[in-house]
This record gives sequence, structure tokens and C-alpha cells, in this order.
Amino acid sequence: MTYFGKFGGLFVPETLVEPLKEVKEAYYKAKEDYEFQEQLKFYLEKYAGRPSALYYAKSLSETYDCKIYLKREDLLHTGSHKINTTLGQAILAKTMGKSRIIAETGAGQHGVAAATACALLKLKCIVYMGSEDIERQKLNVLRMKLLGTEVRPVDSGSRTLKDAINEALRDYVANPDSYYMIGSVVGPTPYPEMVRDFQRVIGDETKKQILQLEGRLPDALVACVGGGSNAMGMFYPFKDDLKVKKYGVEAYGAASLCRGSVGVLHGAKTRVLQDGDGQIAPTQSIAAGLDYPAVGPEHAFFQEIGLAEYCSVGDSEALEGFRILSEREGIIPALESSHAVAYALELTKSMKPDDIVVINLSGRGDKDVAELAGILK
Ligand SMILES: *Cc1c(COP(=O)(O)O)cnc(C)c1O
Repeated sequence: MTYFGKFGGLFVPETLVEPLKEVKEAYYKAKEDYEFQEQLKFYLEKYAGRPSALYYAKSLSETYDCKIYLKREDLLHTGSHKINTTLGQAILAKTMGKSRIIAETGAGQHGVAAATACALLKLKCIVYMGSEDIERQKLNVLRMKLLGTEVRPVDSGSRTLKDAINEALRDYVANPDSYYMIGSVVGPTPYPEMVRDFQRVIGDETKKQILQLEGRLPDALVACVGGGSNAMGMFYPFKDDLKVKKYGVEAYGAASLCRGSVGVLHGAKTRVLQDGDGQIAPTQSIAAGLDYPAVGPEHAFFQEIGLAEYCSVGDSEALEGFRILSEREGIIPALESSHAVAYALELTKSMKPDDIVVINLSGRGDKDVAELAGILK
């Protein structure tokens, strides 16, 4: 699947066309390969801790007068859903005979998950990271180094994620024999489709779990959207269940679906925050994982055909969601996930007591504690 409606595609320098075709072919083969799937299943279960719990948040449910469930991706090894795709792609790289992995990271969550999968499967890993992010996320930089990964600082542009991606792409052009491990449903084909397939385990499990617990499907799914992988992983298995409303929550200062326009960034045609000349606009969010000026092309497609609704939540509302979940349920969420929590709590105002809403808790908040120390009093 190269395109999702008019979105997606392969907008890359010519030297990458052939290597990306190889990735696509290898992935399609792996998708149908019993041994590959068994190996992935083994690591997801025994190493990463799947299936993740679907937890009935009793205290929140009573306060907000409807049934609120949390899909606990925060409980996985390395602390977020990112491990689902890095394990999948590391096994794929191995089967392709690759030994050098390139990745990039913003907050460091994908970097840590990539470094982890590479340590596990004995792959050399190089992670590009903006020097601004290196400064903001010291703990994750240290984790990557402890895992044996080389972290390369990027000093160009705004010295954040988009610049790190540019640099990783440059490395890939110079070393097309390497494997480029992308952390979200973004980038050129086949990544949006492949990362979605690796993340759909979230929605597949949720469907099974909610049917066991409630005997029916939920009324609403809520997930935060940076590049869009945890949201797509949750939504996709419910694609044909039109009665299940799907809400993707962007950060207000980086809302490419809500406020962007059609453009091309990092290999795909999608919705992009840009000025009239097509220059990428600056973004801002308290959650580094949502601070990205584009979004996965399949979300742009879902938005266009009305399969999901997209909205945005600002820093202060997200902090309120963070506070409520921490204090009421004893779960400290990632700042990214806190955007989904905040929107879901708002949504409950229009729901009935028997209605079911599932919030995808994409990650835990340990990484954000130092940053929050200066904000929360
Ligand atoms: C990276 C990250 C996100 C944003 O990425 P998506 O691809 O949109 O899921 C959200 N939550 C957490 C915890 C993350 O680490």
C-alpha cells in the first residue's frame, strides 16, 4: 500500500528508491512468514510484557460517570508502545542480513526502544538526536549509551526531531546498506503501513479484552497523535466498526491534522504545518513526543474520509490530565498520553453512564518527572 487516498507515497532521493523497495519486499514476506511472526510474538510476550492490561479505572469512572478503561502500554519494557515496532523492525533487519541500524529520536523514547532491540539482537545502532533534545532528555541519552548505542548530536535547524530525521535520512543516502528504523507511522512507503501493522497489536488486544470484560465494543477510543503510531495501532483493528468513535488528540502547538495543509515532509505526502512557501513552521508542545510538524499519511486519510476525528489539547489541559490520572489512579502517565487523558475526560461530559471509553496510555511519565519538577508546585 503506497498511498492512503491521496496521502503517503515515496518522496525520496533516487538512491533510496531501491533500498526502500527491498525493505518493502522483505516486510511483505515477513508478514506471511510463520517463523518471523512466531519470533516476534515470543519477544513481545516474554521480553516486552504483552499482552498489556486493559485496566478499568474505577475512581475516574465514578467521578466522570461513564466506564473508563486504560490500555496500559505504559507497562511495557522501556515504558511505551515504541518497543512493539522496534522489536519487529530489528527482527526484520536481521532477516535482511543488515548489521547497521540508523534511527532518530525526539524525546528519546524511540531511541531507547531502538537501542534496546538492537542490544537484544546484536545490531549496531546509531541514533541521531537534536542537541536541544539531548539537553532536555539527558536520562534517555544516558540509557541509549548504556545500551551500547552511539548517539550523534544534530546542531542544524531547530536542533530537534525534524532536524534529526533530516540527518538520519542523509546517513541513509550515504549508507543505503544500513537499515533505517523509523519510530512512527510516518516516512516513505512501506513505513506507515509496516509500523501500523506492528502497532495494531494494541487494538487487537483491546478488542479481545473489552469483549471479555464488557461483552461489547467500546463507544469511543482516545489516543494521542504525534506521528500517530499508538493511535493508528489502537484505531486500525476497529476500522470497520463504525459505531466505535475514534478520537486522535494532537498537541495544540503541533496540530498538523487540525491546522496543517497538504504538503510533503520526510518522504510522504501528508498534512504538514508550513508557511505559504512550504517552509516548515515551528512547533511547540510540553510533550516532546508530540512536537512534530507532520503526521502519518494514513491519519490524514482517516480524517479526510471521516473514519476518525482529530482535535487538539494545550499544555495546561494536558498537565491537568496528568495530575488527575496520577492522583486518582496512582498512574503517572507520559505527557504525550496526558493529552489523550485530558480530551477523554472532556468527552465524558457528553457520555451516558453505561458508555465505554478506552484511553490508550501510550507511555509512562518517568521520563517527564525532571521537566515537571519545575512546573508543578
Ligand atoms: C513517541 C511517543 C508518542 C508519539 O508517537 P506516536 O507515533 O504518535 O504514537 C506518544 N506517546 C509516547 C509515550 C511516546 O513515547
